[in-house]
Amino acid sequence: MQICPRLEIDINKIKHNSLTLTKLCKEKGIDVAGVTKVFCGIPEIAQALVHGGITMLADSRIENLKKLQEMDAQKLLLRLPMISQAKETVRYADISLNSEIKTIAALDAAAKELERMHNIILMIDMGDLREGVWQDQIENTISEILLFENINLLGIGTNLTCYGGVIPNRINLGRLVEIAEIIEDKFNISLNIVSGGNSSSLYLLEKEEIPHRINHLRLGESIVLGRETAYGNSIADTYQDAFTLVTEVVELKEKPSVPIGEIGMDAFGNKPVFEDRGLRKRAILAIGRQDIAVQNIIPLDPNMMILGASSDHLIIDVTDCTKEYMVGDEVRFHIEYGALLQVMTSEYIHKKLL
Ligand SMILES: *Cc1c(COP(=O)(O)O)cnc(C)c1O
Repeated sequence: MQICPRLEIDINKIKHNSLTLTKLCKEKGIDVAGVTKVFCGIPEIAQALVHGGITMLADSRIENLKKLQEMDAQKLLLRLPMISQAKETVRYADISLNSEIKTIAALDAAAKELERMHNIILMIDMGDLREGVWQDQIENTISEILLFENINLLGIGTNLTCYGGVIPNRINLGRLVEIAEIIEDKFNISLNIVSGGNSSSLYLLEKEEIPHRINHLRLGESIVLGRETAYGNSIADTYQDAFTLVTEVVELKEKPSVPIGEIGMDAFGNKPVFEDRGLRKRAILAIGRQDIAVQNIIPLDPNMMILGASSDHLIIDVTDCTKEYMVGDEVRFHIEYGALLQVMTSEYIHKKLL
């Protein structure tokens, strides 16, 4: 018997998705940074990205970039660097995304000490209200950046559809390109990279609406789950099922669908409501809210229904399933981004590379 619960990871499907996306982007003159954070920088998976044509690996955490040192690709730090990690940032990332002069000064000092140059991409907030310089502060920020001796301003970028849910379009990305051109004119420099966002920008490629100077995207979810994230559509010629969560049945019994007794609160302080559907066949799986969020997993068996979960138990209704489930059987789920993040960081879930 195999270890349960486990996450099965089909490396070849991830490689295929990388190939599809790098090709799609290349046709539009766009380089892809393959984002490794959702799989915690597991080197074997990162290697699949590299085999799939990715030449830049990106992660939000230095700890993950460290694991990728031996990979034949540039390393990009996605989350704004902590000043307390300035030295590690310079050591383990070739490039970092930045928005604070104080931090860039710390990176400059660290780069001096390590006798190297550090590349930065200046993040501009185009309205999503996560990271980035506000538009009226761009020029004075750039003039300060250009004074640092060990910092190379590689380009500018933006991040959308993360905090504010703002969808990238011709207007906000067009404005980003315009800002790049204004900077180049005003400071007489050239910007190598105009980084136009994450998997939510992909739909613009298909519509031929991505502004020409956008030449870089940072792609995570689209590579691992084959989905663009502006509207949640699947991407042609990609797999959506590279990851499968496998759990085990620990109880299987027929029980009523409404609890017996006065209903107080459940384990999480909510007062549950129940519909009376008569006697149902219910299975308990050995996985719970400590491992996954119930709304982010989807049973492979279409006749299976998730009833709910407590910390360590997931309760499902198998009455309508054609398969006759038994105690000890495995039950499989597709997982969405939120669950993938959680499962990856959980020490209770075994990771099995296929
Ligand atoms: C996580 C992250 C990405 C990747 O986003 P996806 O939606 O997974 O493609 C890109 N850029 C930054 C700054 C990120 O933090």
